[in-house]
Amino acid sequence: MKQPLYAVYGASGCGRGVMPLAREQLRRVGIAIERLVFVDDKPNSIVVNGQRVLTYREFLDTPASERHVVLAIANNLVRERLVERCAADEVRPWSVSAGNVVTMDAVQIGEGAILCPFVTLTSNIRIGHYFHANLYSYVEHDCVIGDFVTFAPGVKCNGNIVIEDHAYIGTGAILKQGKPGQPLVIGKGAVVGMGAVVIKDVPPGATVVGNPARLLLKG
Ligand code: UDP
Repeated sequence: MKQPLYAVYGASGCGRGVMPLAREQLRRVGIAIERLVFVDDKPNSIVVNGQRVLTYREFLDTPASERHVVLAIANNLVRERLVERCAADEVRPWSVSAGNVVTMDAVQIGEGAILCPFVTLTSNIRIGHYFHANLYSYVEHDCVIGDFVTFAPGVKCNGNIVIEDHAYIGTGAILKQGKPGQPLVIGKGAVVGMGAVVIKDVPPGATVVGNPARLLLKG
């Protein structure tokens, strides 16, 4: 009888961080480790950290009852492209979370998320598809986060903040709390540099850096 097959797409830095979480998640539900692989379009070797690396074609050709993929690539535009590719081949989105993630009340999160160790999502939060929250990031109360948003490690996203689709928030950035009905807004596709302290809205497509964060590039 055919079994489901699971993959971490991307066998580089991000993927190697996600693989142990994926392995542990499958172990918790009793799925054999042989059913978990890396997928990479430009594989550097056939095994990475003990796990087989397949090309996407090889992944599709491996007999399976169903295929699940978590997209472990930090570049959100690449993620979006690969989502379309996987959907066309009936490969299902898979979400992977570390065992110690803290999720409080009324948190909605879309498909294909990666929640790394020590991530905390507090209460009354809505998050779109294919969110990445890297190590030690948090999202505080009453935030709304769009699709394909990426948090590098240690992002402090305080309460009442809206982050639009495809925004990238760099390591250790701090986003100032907004107000009820008057959120701080990080615009679509904006980039917040590492360590930035964001105290006002960031326009769509803009890049901001520093403390207090200032415009480096316009959108
Ligand atoms: N990759 C891929 N298909 C794509 C784009 C990227 O398989 O369409 C793979 C690429 O070969 C590499 C990984 O994804 O192994 C991305 O690694 P990178 O170091 O660029 O970024 P990160 O791991 O930090 O996301």
